[in-house]
Amino acid sequence: MYKLFKRTHVPGIFEVQMSGACDTGIARDHNEDAIAVQEDDGRGYHLAIVCDGMGGHSAGEIASAIAVQVIGEHLAANWGSSDPADLLRAAFALANARIDEHAAVNPHAQGMGCTCVAVLGVRDRFWVAHAGDSRAYRVRGGSAEQITTDHTMVQELVSQGLLTPEQAAVHPYRGRISRCLGHGQQKCDADVGEFTLEKGDNLLLCSDGLSDVVTAGEIVALVCQRDVRDASRRLIEAANKAGGPDNISAIVLRRVV
Ligand code: CA
Repeated sequence: MYKLFKRTHVPGIFEVQMSGACDTGIARDHNEDAIAVQEDDGRGYHLAIVCDGMGGHSAGEIASAIAVQVIGEHLAANWGSSDPADLLRAAFALANARIDEHAAVNPHAQGMGCTCVAVLGVRDRFWVAHAGDSRAYRVRGGSAEQITTDHTMVQELVSQGLLTPEQAAVHPYRGRISRCLGHGQQKCDADVGEFTLEKGDNLLLCSDGLSDVVTAGEIVALVCQRDVRDASRRLIEAANKAGGPDNISAIVLRRVV
């Protein structure tokens, strides 16, 4: 699945391009990731979302699909009613509730949930919200900076100084998340940060199917493709070349002017 949107918000002053790709990978037989790439079609913002579902019997992909839909609809319906960061927090909380409501009446879906990372762009201001270990990176000047902090058990140990990032990256429990949408949580507090994008900067949103197997150096090289469409496609290809052990999602958002 590939999408490309190009929008000039302020002619000659500000322009963003986005593309997204989502792939089952090599080892899995179905895709529990879901993405959304929404251009600013006049409502005043653009939106990108990556969700990574969990739960057996296809429940994970339902959780991801619910989250992507609920967050998109909540922002569309309430845009302008409050601060973008508050809107994102409310959208994540609503998605959390909707997933658990679905699980409550579908026994096979009990415990389903998903991680989520979303970016909301308003002109040159960007808000990134996340829950779980789906990530956002800002690629600027030849380096990739992870701008989300994983909600995982091993990251908490890194934050406490009990593990190094290098140890965490290969830890057998690195996939154990400490926050997500759904999964029977009473509430979900998304972390929301505001970031700037300068001309030439890129934002990458991805699931762990990408970040687990593609290095930061590769991310820089692949994100900086001339064509944004090539960037998301080649990121997927790189993860598959590394074995494609999990579902893979990548959305690249670039400020071109
Ligand atoms: Ca995953």
